[in-house]
Amino acid sequence: MAGKITFTMIKPNAVKNGHCGSILHMINAAGFCYKGLKMIKMTPGLAKKFYAVHKDRPFFNDLVDYMCTSPVVVAAISGDNAVESFRNLIGATDPKTAAPDTIRGKYGESIQMNAIHGSDSDENAAKEIALIFKDEELF
Ligand code: UDP
Ligand code: MG
Repeated sequence: MAGKITFTMIKPNAVKNGHCGSILHMINAAGFCYKGLKMIKMTPGLAKKFYAVHKDRPFFNDLVDYMCTSPVVVAAISGDNAVESFRNLIGATDPKTAAPDTIRGKYGESIQMNAIHGSDSDENAAKEIALIFKDEELF
């Protein structure tokens, strides 16, 4: 059965450009609730752990550098069929091909600076939440 929890991160460019409020509103308007929410600055160690599945890809080092350039906003969110419905809300990885009414379609600047992350499975959502949040930060 599909789980009710997923993990998201508003990436540095979207935070720096003042899009947090609009993005958090889109997430709420789509029916999700916040279980945990905070702003953090990623370190290279944390970014490498977070994106470990991509460690052999050509874009890995650049992506890790980028994720540490300025703060990100991270959230654990709940909703029906959370992983799949949230991936639909954020749109395709490349903002050029993301539908215009998706978060990446609206706020993504490039394939790297694509505004937002969304977990790709229930298992990864649980891992990502455990990596970023302490138990007492989740409600
Ligand atoms: N990414 C990149 N260059 C690429 C592909 C991906 O910089 O050619 C970045 C992008 O920020 C993306 C992240 O790596 O969101 C993870 O890639 P993945 O293929 O898992 O895309 P996602 O699951 O985020 O849609
Ligand atoms: Mg992915």
